[in-house]
Amino acid sequence: MIYNEYGKTGIKVSAIGMGGMRFENQEDPEACASLVKAAYDSGINYFDTAPGYGKSEDLFGIALKEMQKTRKEKPFYVATKTFGGNPADVRKDLENSLKRMGLDYIDFYHVWCIMSLDNYRQRVNNGVLKEFEKLKAEGLIKHICISTHMAGADIRPMLADYPFDGMLLGYSIMNFAYRTEGIEAAAESKMGVTVMNPLGGGIIPQNPSRFSFVKASPEETVVEGALRFLMNDRRISTALVGFANKPQLAEAIRAVDGFYRLKDSDVSRIKENLRTSFNELCTTCSYCNVCAKKIPVPKLMDAYNHYVLANGNPDSMIGRLKWHWGIEIEDEMFGSCNQCGLCESKCTQHLPIRERLETIKSEVEKAREKKEKSKPAK
Ligand code: SF4
Ligand code: SF4
Repeated sequence: MIYNEYGKTGIKVSAIGMGGMRFENQEDPEACASLVKAAYDSGINYFDTAPGYGKSEDLFGIALKEMQKTRKEKPFYVATKTFGGNPADVRKDLENSLKRMGLDYIDFYHVWCIMSLDNYRQRVNNGVLKEFEKLKAEGLIKHICISTHMAGADIRPMLADYPFDGMLLGYSIMNFAYRTEGIEAAAESKMGVTVMNPLGGGIIPQNPSRFSFVKASPEETVVEGALRFLMNDRRISTALVGFANKPQLAEAIRAVDGFYRLKDSDVSRIKENLRTSFNELCTTCSYCNVCAKKIPVPKLMDAYNHYVLANGNPDSMIGRLKWHWGIEIEDEMFGSCNQCGLCESKCTQHLPIRERLETIKSEVEKAREKKEKSKPAK
C-alpha cells in the first residue's frame, strides 16, 4: 500500500480509502463487516461513511470493534459527516455516529455536502463551525473537514474563509476539469484532499471500451487505469473506492500495487483523450453557468453524461441529480428554461444544451408520473 500525508495533520493515509456506501448487501452484516476488515488487512487505513448511507455506520461499527484490538500498532482513521445546520443538530449527529460505530472520537468530521457558497455561509452563520471547534476541544473529533460538490472556482473562496484540515470532493477522470481548481486551492492551503466517486459512480467500469485509453496494457482494467490517474496527482491524499465486494477490493488493491508514476506526456495524452473521445460529453468546465433563470446547467449536463454513458437509462441521470447534486425531480427549475440559448453559446464543447435540457425535462416528467402512480391510493 502507498501512504500519503493528509495535509498538515501528520497523519499518513492509504492512497485508496474505503467508501462505505456501496456494500453489496447491507442486509448481510457479517459479509459487510468482513469486507471492511479485509480492506483494513490489505493496508487501507482510511474509512469513510455517513449517517445517510443506509446502515453503513452500523456495519462499520461491527468491523471497527474487531479492528480496535490492533489499532495501536496498525492505525486506522474514520471519517463521517453531518448535514446538521445548527449546533444542536451537529452535536446530535456526532453522538449518534459515535454510538453506531462504537467509537470515542471521529478522526475526520465533515461539514457535509456544501452545494453552494450561500449554503456554506448559512451553515457558518448558524454556528456550525463553532460547534465543530467545541467538539474538537472536547476531543470528540480530531480534524475539521468539509465536503462539497461545488465547482472549483467556488471552492477557492470557501477554503480561503476557514482553515479546514481537509476536504472531500467528487473527482474522477470524468470531471477533473470542473474540480481541479478546488484541488489546487486545497493544495495551496496544505489541506488533506479526499476524493470520492473516483470511478464516476460506476460509469467508468461499466463502460470499459470507452475508457480504455486510461489503461497501460490490455491486461489492466479501466478501474486500475482510472485510479492510477488519480494516485498520480500528488495533491490528492486518498481516493475513496466504494468496494461492493471482495473482488472489487482486490481490483483496487491491484491498482495500488501496480502503481507507477505517469510521465507528464502520459497525463497530457489522457487529458487530450478525455477531451476528444468524449466530445459528446460535458467536461463540467462550467463556462455555461450563466443562466439568468438560475438553471444550474453544468450540473444538469453532468447528470446528462450519466444518461449517455448508461445508454439512455433515465435512472442513472435522475440518481445523479438527486444523490450527487441534491436536485429532486420536483424542482420547478426543470420547467423554467425559455430556450434563450445563452448557455449553449458559451459551451466549450459546443454541446446541444437546449436539446439536452428538453430531454432531461421530459425524463423528469416521466419520473414524476411514475412516482405519483406508485403512491398508495388514499
Ligand atoms: S437556454 Fe435555458 S438554461 Fe440556457 S441560459 Fe437560456 S434559459 Fe437558461
Ligand atoms: S455544457 Fe459545455 S460549457 Fe457547460 S459545463 Fe458542460 S462542457 Fe462546459
